[in-house]
Amino acid sequence: MRGLYIHLPFCVKKCSYCDFYSLPARLGSLESYVQAVVHESCRYAGLSFQTLYLGGGTPSLLGARNLRNLVGGIRKSLDLSKLVESTIEVNPESATSELFEAVKEAGFNRVSIGVQSLSDHELQSVGRIHNAAQAIEAIKIARRLGFKSVSVDIIIGLPGQSWSTLRKALETLVGAGVAHISLYCLSLEEGTPLEKSPPEDLPLDDTQAQLFEQARAFLLGCEFAHYEISNFALKGYECLHNLNYWRGGEYVGLGPAAASHLYGRRFRNRADLDAYVERPDGIIEDVEELNARDKASEEAMLRLRLLVEGLDVSELAARFGQDNIEPLTSRLDRMAHDRLLVFDGLRYRLTPSRILTSNPIFAEVLCF
Ligand code: SF4
Repeated sequence: MRGLYIHLPFCVKKCSYCDFYSLPARLGSLESYVQAVVHESCRYAGLSFQTLYLGGGTPSLLGARNLRNLVGGIRKSLDLSKLVESTIEVNPESATSELFEAVKEAGFNRVSIGVQSLSDHELQSVGRIHNAAQAIEAIKIARRLGFKSVSVDIIIGLPGQSWSTLRKALETLVGAGVAHISLYCLSLEEGTPLEKSPPEDLPLDDTQAQLFEQARAFLLGCEFAHYEISNFALKGYECLHNLNYWRGGEYVGLGPAAASHLYGRRFRNRADLDAYVERPDGIIEDVEELNARDKASEEAMLRLRLLVEGLDVSELAARFGQDNIEPLTSRLDRMAHDRLLVFDGLRYRLTPSRILTSNPIFAEVLCF
């Protein structure tokens, strides 16, 4: 399985918690950016992909014409004939019927809507430029136009958030027919406005953990499976593109700051829009070739994120050699003994109570 990720590094306005690589769109910048991505795609001419993910930033800023040119352009060099899932991220403020029509026409079969919250106070408190009504309308349009696979992002731990506002949001989303919900815990990233001056009504860590647990219980009760640390889906609606990351599959990332994993090497494009537009295939950096032991540990860490599927070390042994996974297996056994992981005789999984505090466990998995 191989996935294609395209990064759209433009946003109308920076949200106060965001440290992703995104910039304000300037006049004409979307057109030249599309040309640059099409140019960069030629570097991977002939490669076949099973998933496509257009993320950002705000891909829905592209509009119908740029979206058509982008997908039409990359199709000339890349083999997209075997795509099983094509996702585009859409922000509610740019979600019109015309946009969703264009998204459909361009061949996307999954939309991921940046809802974040259905409380106007919570949205405004972190600088989001949409309101709850626009978010609900975006979901309705997508469903009306026939998108069965609608995903939404929700932030846990927003200023002023309570279980009452979160539960109402989840009830509305489930009732509106969304099939996939990503729950992200708000974190204070260094250098962001939110980190520099956090509002007084920002929930404490314990409250955030409790909200996550309540949301998890609610979604499990609505037949959503908690299949990855931050992701819940109805059966058959898991995100295949991201599953490929967590299973250690290959992917190619186009655009500044996009990462790739191809032919056993990992590399990324520098986060520099101007340099990228000038020379789209000339800003690769951080090329890394992992040895078998490191690769096995890294893949084990990613697979432990998959809460239902878990990690089967015999698969790793078959790929990387028994010798190369023995130290890893000892560490996993020790953590299972300490009840940080559960081992059922075949697969290791995170213990549910460790889901939000999994970083030390992952660090131990990666420790060589
Ligand atoms: S819309 Fe998304 S990418 Fe853009 S600033 Fe807000 S959080 Fe960051």
